[in-house]
Amino acid sequence: MKSHAKVVVIGGGVVGCSVLFHLARHGWTDILLLERDELTSGSTWHAAGGMHTINGDPNVAKLQKYTISLYKEIEELSGQATGVHLTGGVLLAATEARLDWLRGVVAKGRYLGIDLEEISPDEAAELMPLLDPKQFVGAVRNKEDGHLDPSGVTHAYAKAARKLGAEVERFTKVESIVRRPDGLWRVITNKGEVVAEHVVNAGGLWAREVGRMIGLELPVLAMEHMYLITEDMPEVAAWNQKTGTEIIHAVDFDGELYLRQERGGMLMGTYEKANKPWSEFSTPWNFGHELLEPDIDRIAPSLEVGFRHFPAFQNTGIKQIINGPFTFAPDGNPLVGPVRGLPGFWVACGVMAGFSQGGGVGLALANWMIEGDPGADIWAMDVSRYGDWATMAYTNAKVRENYSRRFSIRFPNEELPAGRPLKTTPVYDLLSAKGAQWGVAYGLEVPLWYAPEGVKDEFSWRRSSDFQHVAKEVKTVRTRVGLSEISSFAKYRVTGEGAAGWLDRLLACKLPKPGRMTLAPMLKEDGRLIGDFSLANLGSPNSNGEDWFLAGSGIAEEYHMRWFEAHLPQDGSVRIEALGAKLTGLSIAGPKARDVLARVTRADVSNAAFPFMATAKMDVGMAPCLVGRVSYTGDLGYEIWVAPEYQRAAYQTLMAAGEEFGIGLFGSRALNALRLEKNYGSWAREYRPIYGPLEAGLDRFVAYGKEADFIGKEAAVAERQQGGKLRLRAFVVDAADADVIGDEPIWFDGAVRGWVTSGGYAHHSETSVAMGYVPKEIADEADGFQIELLGKRFPARVQPTPLFDANLERMRG
Ligand SMILES: Cc1cc2nc3c(=O)[nH]c(=O)nc-3n(C[C@H](O)[C@H](O)[C@H](O)COP(=O)(O)OP(=O)(O)OC[C@H]3O[C@@H](n4cnc5c(N)ncnc54)[C@H](O)[C@@H]3O)c2cc1C
Repeated sequence: MKSHAKVVVIGGGVVGCSVLFHLARHGWTDILLLERDELTSGSTWHAAGGMHTINGDPNVAKLQKYTISLYKEIEELSGQATGVHLTGGVLLAATEARLDWLRGVVAKGRYLGIDLEEISPDEAAELMPLLDPKQFVGAVRNKEDGHLDPSGVTHAYAKAARKLGAEVERFTKVESIVRRPDGLWRVITNKGEVVAEHVVNAGGLWAREVGRMIGLELPVLAMEHMYLITEDMPEVAAWNQKTGTEIIHAVDFDGELYLRQERGGMLMGTYEKANKPWSEFSTPWNFGHELLEPDIDRIAPSLEVGFRHFPAFQNTGIKQIINGPFTFAPDGNPLVGPVRGLPGFWVACGVMAGFSQGGGVGLALANWMIEGDPGADIWAMDVSRYGDWATMAYTNAKVRENYSRRFSIRFPNEELPAGRPLKTTPVYDLLSAKGAQWGVAYGLEVPLWYAPEGVKDEFSWRRSSDFQHVAKEVKTVRTRVGLSEISSFAKYRVTGEGAAGWLDRLLACKLPKPGRMTLAPMLKEDGRLIGDFSLANLGSPNSNGEDWFLAGSGIAEEYHMRWFEAHLPQDGSVRIEALGAKLTGLSIAGPKARDVLARVTRADVSNAAFPFMATAKMDVGMAPCLVGRVSYTGDLGYEIWVAPEYQRAAYQTLMAAGEEFGIGLFGSRALNALRLEKNYGSWAREYRPIYGPLEAGLDRFVAYGKEADFIGKEAAVAERQQGGKLRLRAFVVDAADADVIGDEPIWFDGAVRGWVTSGGYAHHSETSVAMGYVPKEIADEADGFQIELLGKRFPARVQPTPLFDANLERMRG
């Protein structure tokens, strides 16, 4: 074994081998994969080998499509058969709600380039002869489904990587990992030591144990999973003989089953409700090529449905039941990327569908390691979407919930209960008493809306039980004054003698003067967005710019801290702290917001003394606060930041003072309705790392001409000169009883040309609205757009100016 390598990949399952292959294909060849046993000795060897393009997240779906397209290439490169059978498949709906969901999947497929087609149950039965069409209301045909040989694929990746110069050491177990003072990693194995610049944890079933070697507790948990293989079936033989083809794949969502042909019989697997984690606390090192005891009682309820939906199963015997463990992250998506605070340590684990996702994971990670950027939008897989709050017990609760809901519908207004409440703010019980209906963001409970006694969310694709109540909250804000809890924003304090210079290089905006705030886009080297913040200068007029406050997307706190810390100077001249729950927030907004604030503070909050985008420390009642005159509602409003021990007092003071002005509470659904009619985008929706500031309409906040050589400047200037490719646009949609939520296709002139990033009902303007990206060539067309929603296309018109307060009189007045 070599003693030095640029990269050590730990784990020779499908994921580790894919990472190795992609690193080699991109030109890094001083790379070594260490496997404690034979390749495939984790969950890989007993996989059912199914592969699918569809995924709830469109960007993950793209990477799945890439994975499937890769098999031919690695087969040719390696000379190793992958056993790929691209049979195609049917996705089956037994309920109308499921069919609505499937129509959304077909619609997404249009801009993802995935060939999906809605078909009737009878047409489905012509393609997949074992199903009883009377059990279904509709189906979708997917030509890109299929199955493969898990071991063949893994060895093909490894052989192809070796041909390109990579090395693989089998029967070499990594026993500990130590970071040297010079930043290199000592990877200590049972066969000696390798020093590496980069280490990739692709430990699969042992990813937790590998993480623990350096004090990292990863949110992954293995679950037992069962599939059965039947005896040979005459129906299968007859079909094979008649058509000369295999029986195609089927996913029966309502039966929670997947099926495919396996030799002369069928394979049927299920994600059972009564599921069981495996090795909850640590994975035994002596586990290898063995299976777990099958437990047919656990899967019996699903099999019962399966035997009804596919009656031929009633006449056949079960030859074998496979039960094996594989790992999940709390939301079921992989954990990929660099780990905050551990330069050179990367993860590629929690991959629950290695044969659909392994290629995309390997590609993104290799790009990231070599180019400094994953090269695709992999937000949904980024390890940084979890922070310390994703503890082992939380992960256990969430993974079990996710597993049991693998094939369940999640409605747009449906909040999932497991692992909650975990993080709450001090006003949690006060807001609950007012009817708060809670959602969750980055582990923190956030009020979505306020329900009268006896009313709650009825889950639906269409406008639902909250509609009229959210409308009332919006009216309160636009006509009087509303109060909302805003602690779920991420808050950062930047201090130190080098703070101003550092921020000037990190952020693309012009730095504000003391006592002022600004909107601050943050770019990557390629000139695309990696963040958008509000930046406040907390220094006094004669300070040296040493005290700054940033507020940004709450769900991106770890993501942004990873970026900030990677760019901090080594000399200690700048300090940054994510304030998390150490700082809570309240916001008041609406035409009477200033009157309320004026009642509770001695500070002068008149428009002259405290204009739009001003910031100052002031007392709210007895509570010391930091107040900024800004509001995401686009109305006259204030964000009030307060230490948690004062939050209840500040809340009660504001509510009492607001009584005479008709103050009311509003939640994040009302906030969404309010920001949409102002054409305000939000992080992870409109603003993502694949869009440039010009495309996203944030160019007006970029100080292209500022002296500081900010990150991404050159590329941003080039984007401005060349015009980029896309434009973010706001639309008014002639929708009927449902509104878009995001990821719907935008049609123009009879073809799909763009996609929706978010939408909803703008209650104050009384219209359905959407935001989304379209090619710049058509972005200024007044007419001709349609947005597809639940299988129908609705006319949509570009709304160039905000529907509310286009002249900014309310906001700045
Ligand atoms: C019953 C069942 C059916 C499935 N069906 C499908 C399917 O149809 N389609 C699909 O896409 N997926 C399926 N899966 C899931 C699939 O198996 C996983 O997504 C995939 O195997 C994950 O691969 P991996 O490389 O991340 O992990 P693993 O396969 O667990 O590989 C990790 C490797 O790392 C090695 N390792 C760990 N620690 C060390 C160390 N310290 N030193 C050296 N080596 C180490 C291990 O020995 C192991 O070989 C199924 C899984 C099961 C259990």
